[in-house]
Amino acid sequence: PVSLAEQAIQLEDQYGAHNYHPLPVVLTRGEGVFVWDVDGRRYFDFLSAYSAVSQGHCHPRIIGALVQQAQRLTLTSRAFHNDQLGKCEQYLCTYFGYDKTLLMNSGVEAGETALKLTRKWAYKVKGIAQDQAVMVFAEGNFWGRTLAAISSSTDPSSTNDYGPLLPGYQLVPYNDLAALEATFQANPNIAGFMVEPIQGEAGVLVPDEGYLRGVRELCTRYNVLFIADEVQTGIGRTGKRLACDHEDVKPDILVLGKALSGGVMPVSAVLASDEIMLTIRPGEHGSTFGGNPLGCAVAMAALDVMQDEHLAENAEAMGQLFRHRMNALRVHTDLIQLVRGKGLLNAIVIKERPAFGEETAWELCLRLSDNGLLCKPTHGDKIRFAPPLVITEAQMNEACDIIERTVKAF
Ligand code: PLP
Repeated sequence: PVSLAEQAIQLEDQYGAHNYHPLPVVLTRGEGVFVWDVDGRRYFDFLSAYSAVSQGHCHPRIIGALVQQAQRLTLTSRAFHNDQLGKCEQYLCTYFGYDKTLLMNSGVEAGETALKLTRKWAYKVKGIAQDQAVMVFAEGNFWGRTLAAISSSTDPSSTNDYGPLLPGYQLVPYNDLAALEATFQANPNIAGFMVEPIQGEAGVLVPDEGYLRGVRELCTRYNVLFIADEVQTGIGRTGKRLACDHEDVKPDILVLGKALSGGVMPVSAVLASDEIMLTIRPGEHGSTFGGNPLGCAVAMAALDVMQDEHLAENAEAMGQLFRHRMNALRVHTDLIQLVRGKGLLNAIVIKERPAFGEETAWELCLRLSDNGLLCKPTHGDKIRFAPPLVITEAQMNEACDIIERTVKAF
């Protein structure tokens, strides 16, 4: 007989596009740091839906806000006002220290909104000639899958056979201030630099201390907008409210998504000053679902949880514990080459085993899953570990025990 899990996988395989390669687990329920599969097996979720479920699965306060709002009003479109949007906008602006915000849904839409704003600002405020504005990105960046996003990608598997790509883009090496300054110096038409404070999808690349401060200084000096893509790093993930807070820098444009809704529904936001935000006028940008009352109610609850449960502080403490345990394990095995990260955005770099070759990290993830911990390789040899920020010390130790046991038996 075909098991429930096999059935679910077979259906996806037959009727769904083959644009992902998931681990063969079929999940049906989640609570806090745990998820359960259709056979009732419990797993630690050490991916958190790519850092979206930071507040933990099905957080009662966020789900409460969702249900309450869902029974009142879900969507008005922006053709009319609703009684949640303004409150949510005020919350975001006050909490993050900006004049205005623009709400969208997915992270990539917020990134694209930031780029459109930057181009508007370049023409309306900076005075760049029409269609000449250049956007600078860091090599290895990831900000989503639309054509505008992949046009800045240096990963061939993101761009192959999707051309022609968008013009007006320029790349610089990540974590290289000298290269950034040379680029700014060489071209007066540069409008903005969009960068992840820690590159997530590239394998949790943490730049040198001082990089973000340097980016801030260069952007100010050359009148270029500093756009921080904090879709993955924001909302407590790296041990502070924002990853930029580690260096006390304020980007001109802040891009948020994922955990902004606790992973409950797609809610993203762009924050900026009046000078930047008011360059877009009515009718020039928008989204049917952007700023919907359901998303607004959920986002406010998700931010309340982040603050009231001190999730950034917990991420900092639990991240220290995780890296300490992984570095202690590294002494006993050459399988773990490197442990890196900040807060609860961490990765280990895996050394290939001849028996598995490029599949080594994938095989390790399969064994971890057998032992009750879910995570996923990124770029072949790296495994990201990003549990919900609500994880307790006892849970973190139990999860590290699973990793230790699995690595030693590998
Ligand atoms: N920006 C960063 C840094 C991301 O990691 C991601 C997604 O992984 C995105 C943007 C895109 O977000 P979404 O998948 O919601 O479009």
